[in-house]
Amino acid sequence: MSYINDNLGDLDNKISEICLKTGRNANDITLVAVSKTFPEKDIRCAIECGQLDFGENKLQEAEPKILTLPSDLIWHYVGKIQTNKVNKIIKAFAVIHSLDSIIHADSINQVAGKLDLKPKLFLQINLAGEVSKPGFTHESVISSIHTLMGMKNLTIIGLMCIPPVDAISENSRKWFIKLRELKNQLDSEHNCKLPYLSMGMSNDYEIAIEEGSTHIRVGSSIFGNRSYTSDKNRITMD
Ligand SMILES: *Cc1c(COP(=O)(O)O)cnc(C)c1O
Repeated sequence: MSYINDNLGDLDNKISEICLKTGRNANDITLVAVSKTFPEKDIRCAIECGQLDFGENKLQEAEPKILTLPSDLIWHYVGKIQTNKVNKIIKAFAVIHSLDSIIHADSINQVAGKLDLKPKLFLQINLAGEVSKPGFTHESVISSIHTLMGMKNLTIIGLMCIPPVDAISENSRKWFIKLRELKNQLDSEHNCKLPYLSMGMSNDYEIAIEEGSTHIRVGSSIFGNRSYTSDKNRITMD
């Protein structure tokens, strides 16, 4: 699977190049290798190249991978939260990128308290108000932020977005700017300083880094094209 090695090398070069161009430090960018639908052997290949951060969007698919692969990996959950799976999700994953509502925050907070965990979470923001996507709206995150920050078993570390699907990568830029501005607004007007921005996927991670992303979630540019039974998967993250 030398293509995985090559792809990771290319990504690394690209990240360095953009950081140099924009005056950012490449060490401030975490590459989350989204391994959903790909087998363990592909993940092992990425591990041999030094990759430590991996993303999955389905608990059932991820659990056997997490159990079998080396324990020093950092697993990121990028899928939909389901209340009945919260227990397992927060045990299996170090970081959750997709906290989408107060109801789920409440549930995670309660379960985390019982397990004595303090999961790290990104708030997923549905910037375009797409009905197909979960997440806080701009308004709801502003009105909920104090409640969220008051939930003592949650460690909210940043904001995440998935821009509307668009064949033109450059069209993601405005959403990345909006997410960065929202993070700044939370800091300047609501006394809530969040360190990270999870934004950018295979087709638009370069633009995301230019706009301040700290966590890019890249799947197909590392592992190749995914085969899905339904294309809906990709968009709704089911
Ligand atoms: C699948 C997925 C990714 C990776 O997508 P690629 O286009 O393959 O890079 C990133 N984020 C989320 C939430 C995903 O579901």
